[in-house]
Amino acid sequence: MTTADRWGAGGGRSDADDRPVVGDQVPIAERIICVDCGDEAGLISHTDPPGMAPVGSIVAYRCRSCLERWDIEVDSDGI
Ligand SMILES: [Zn+2]
Repeated sequence: MTTADRWGAGGGRSDADDRPVVGDQVPIAERIICVDCGDEAGLISHTDPPGMAPVGSIVAYRCRSCLERWDIEVDSDGI
């Protein structure tokens, strides 16, 4: 992930940088592409508000074809 590389371990986030940080609500995808089979995996986590989740949290998706579960960490760009 380039985000972590750019921010580094020591923080150093500028006030001029308005990118979301850990805890901020960002939009997440209703569906992702299953890495295993290429079909769609739908969101199974319930978030509040719907369609949003805090950066750094984990949301789960389940593939409609192979039923694989994907736990995705929400990053500052959403999912
Ligand atoms: Zn699948």
